[in-house]
Amino acid sequence: MYAHASLHTRGIHTHVRWLLITMLAQALFAGTAMAQAAPAAAAPAGKVSPVAPRKEQVQAIVNEAYAKYKGDTRGKNADYIPELAKVDSKLFGIAIVTVDNQTLTAGDVKTAFSIQSIAKVFSLALAMEEQGPDKVFEKIGSEPTGRAFNSPIAVVDMPTHTGNPLVNAGAIATVSLIGGASADAKWAKILNFYGDVAGEKLSLIDAVYKSEAATNTGNKALSYLLAKYDRIYADPFQSVDVYTKECSVGVTALQLARMGATLANNGKNPATGKQVIKPENVPEILSAMMMAGLYDGSGGWAWHVGLPAKSGVGGGLVAVVPGKGAIAVFAPPLDEAGNSVKGQEVIQYVTNRLDYNVFSPASVGLKK
Ligand code: GLN
Repeated sequence: MYAHASLHTRGIHTHVRWLLITMLAQALFAGTAMAQAAPAAAAPAGKVSPVAPRKEQVQAIVNEAYAKYKGDTRGKNADYIPELAKVDSKLFGIAIVTVDNQTLTAGDVKTAFSIQSIAKVFSLALAMEEQGPDKVFEKIGSEPTGRAFNSPIAVVDMPTHTGNPLVNAGAIATVSLIGGASADAKWAKILNFYGDVAGEKLSLIDAVYKSEAATNTGNKALSYLLAKYDRIYADPFQSVDVYTKECSVGVTALQLARMGATLANNGKNPATGKQVIKPENVPEILSAMMMAGLYDGSGGWAWHVGLPAKSGVGGGLVAVVPGKGAIAVFAPPLDEAGNSVKGQEVIQYVTNRLDYNVFSPASVGLKK
């Protein structure tokens, strides 16, 4: 299927020419869109160009993934937050936003759903804006727990107790690091920051907030365990409440892809041009996503996909392709670890086809 298939049989000159094409493609694509048109390298209609996937070719891959997984009924909506069990499990949307603000979509990309744990990434970003990466690393850490995202055992067992900013305990502690004269002021600042990352004003889904606030005894227990170890830095229950609000923020798949694209674009929102996150903080944020973005499914994800990503129990999943863009999927049914089943399949399918794996030496949209 790809032009490289007979590389080894064609001799050294072809190899050298191929390397030159690769280098040229890398130069062309450095810092530009994953879906950018490259007329000189246009492939025959219907074929994926080995050197320059064009927008319609990426769209075709997105459409293929949508068709392939639309009928996949594996997984189950989260129901420990009662409101999430009510969300239509057939909803399914895929969105890509590139660093030059191109968008590619399929399905339900304008339906708002609760961001849930994906919020943790952006609270981490805000805490780092305020405190710097070293302080956040010291106060929270970034070690995978190897346990469920809400595990109290991890809090007891981990030497840091907080684990990392993307499990519940670490995320509640991260919220406690964010400054604010009152809980309301802190919450307003967080919501505003998320809006800047998304490039649009976001708001709370009140029914989800109330539903989680009425049932979050486990998170309250985590916050008190953290207090026992001196690893929470503001009032524990107040921190849980702000955390519960941030998880209840409504986003669409398109907004989520734009939030990811802001990270891919060194912290600058590709739609508004606003520098929301300091560029020097982006690598640490992405590294935290790589280590723990899919909780105890993170190792398998790194193995198969090789992209920093973050899931939420609302069914959202976003993966970041540094310097190129982000892909987000919304599909509520989750696997055992709490990650969207269709989300993982689609992102693996699309990014494997485009060879967007940060560990791949050919990660420039080329197939080796
Ligand atoms: N608000 C959810 C909780 O605290 C977030 C969990 C998630 O998305 N994994 O349980």
